[in-house]
Amino acid sequence: MTNWLGEKECNFCHADLSDETLIDGRTCYGPWAVMCDLCHVVHGVGLGTGSGQRYEPQEVRISKGTALMPSAVTVRTIHTKVEG
Ligand SMILES: [Zn+2]
Repeated sequence: MTNWLGEKECNFCHADLSDETLIDGRTCYGPWAVMCDLCHVVHGVGLGTGSGQRYEPQEVRISKGTALMPSAVTVRTIHTKVEG
């Protein structure tokens, strides 16, 4: 499983993808870009090795507990790569 660590904004429509599906893929213009689902349909060349990867948001709980403050937990959204 691979986590997405890059930007979470669509390079085309600038939508915030923090809680949305994110696609890192090649565009029909050549360069790669971060895209939302919709812009990927318009500008992308597909999914798969050499074409693009899809990442789905997933909530994770991160414990920041210490011996002094054992219950500090934050919820964060990470994007994990969807295989296939
Ligand atoms: Zn977009």
